[in-house]
Amino acid sequence: MKKEENFSEWYNEVVEEAGLTDKRYPVKGMNVWPAYGWKIMRYIDSFIRQELDATGHDEVCFPLLIPETEFKKEKDHIKGFDEEVYWVTHAGLNPLDVQLVIRPTSETSMYPMFALWVRSHGDLPLKVYQIVNTFRYETKQTRAFIRVREIHFFESHTCHVDEADAQRQVEEDFVILEQIMKRLSLPYLLLKRTEWDKFPGAHYTVGIDTYIPSGRSLQLGSIHHYRENFSRPFDIKYEDPDGDQKYVHQTTFGMSERLLGAVVGVHGDDRGLVLPPDIAPVQAIVIPIIAKGNREEITANARQLRDELKDFGIRVQIDESDERPGAKFYKWELKGVPLRLELGGRDIKKGVVSFARRDTGEKGTMLRSNIAKDVEAMLLKISKDMRAKAQQLMDSSVTTIESLDNIPKKWVRFGWCGSEECGQKIEETADIKILGTPYSGEKFHGKCLACGQETDIVVYAARAM
Ligand code: ZN
Repeated sequence: MKKEENFSEWYNEVVEEAGLTDKRYPVKGMNVWPAYGWKIMRYIDSFIRQELDATGHDEVCFPLLIPETEFKKEKDHIKGFDEEVYWVTHAGLNPLDVQLVIRPTSETSMYPMFALWVRSHGDLPLKVYQIVNTFRYETKQTRAFIRVREIHFFESHTCHVDEADAQRQVEEDFVILEQIMKRLSLPYLLLKRTEWDKFPGAHYTVGIDTYIPSGRSLQLGSIHHYRENFSRPFDIKYEDPDGDQKYVHQTTFGMSERLLGAVVGVHGDDRGLVLPPDIAPVQAIVIPIIAKGNREEITANARQLRDELKDFGIRVQIDESDERPGAKFYKWELKGVPLRLELGGRDIKKGVVSFARRDTGEKGTMLRSNIAKDVEAMLLKISKDMRAKAQQLMDSSVTTIESLDNIPKKWVRFGWCGSEECGQKIEETADIKILGTPYSGEKFHGKCLACGQETDIVVYAARAM
């Protein structure tokens, strides 16, 4: 498995061999989550829940099916999705009077209910989220976690008294996002999408993009400000303190199992997965190093070590199988376990435990007497180092370009006058996708790559994964 030679093949091999997904299910783009992959996804979900709950969002669960009549209420929204949705057309043998859409996202299932729930300004802000499966008929080549037809999806939806309060929500979403991305050791950019690329029906869209070492970009999620674009067609109104009826302003924030795809693609190496400790089902694996005549002593010591770490709150396992140590190393490295602990006769005599870090390959020893605290500190360090390494790679992969010739196969940034015509010309000529302008601004002065006009607008672009 060579990540640098053929990223695509490497990725497809790692996700299956490490036990993250099983692609043999007989519907294309709908994969099975085996236990190991699902455990990791559940850790990711738990961090999302933790952050959303802490910021006053309530978890809800809406129906999977949406009546065609609701789905078609916002005209840009339906235009953006009509080639991607699955339809339920029959109930048993009878054609349905009103056909049903299998949710591709939940605006149109939630908003008819929001119209009933929101009555007065006292009901606002309304902040809810759900983690559910959504369905989109993907026509491009499918890829586990990255381009699938059944998507494990997180979405938060909020309603506010005015545009400014909705804007404050967008800012809060950025803080929530940072907390989650820290856990995954993933760097990212917040890029405001172009008008032709924003979410169907949105006032504006901020894409959350990360850099994949193959040179491509991967959109991990997005945050949208809707203004009144949905509340008008769905009639979500409240009575303000003066007794006037006003439309709410709305936002959404969505992410998916792509987070796991990014973890694989960004951190993995030729030996397989490399998991950030916070989402590793096994954070440390204990390997007893048995020699002639000491099996019982070593096994007893290794179990004691495991129990001590477990009591301290570390997710630890012991590999007591009959395989040779080398085969065990290989197996747990493939699964991305952050820390390997080896315990042999010599270690016990010296009062130490040998360790090997999965991310850097660094090896050394830790004092047996202080092992739990040392392991905890090491896991924290691994998490930080992984992010720093990925951030450094992302930063060094952005090239500023001034011409459309010989565009590097990585991320590029360049001047753009702001016109759709120039933007689309650049995308077509260079076969890249404009991701957008940095949300928090970036000092720039240069010329539009297409028309040459002087501009302060800078955009990032890449080949999308
Ligand atoms: Zn231009």
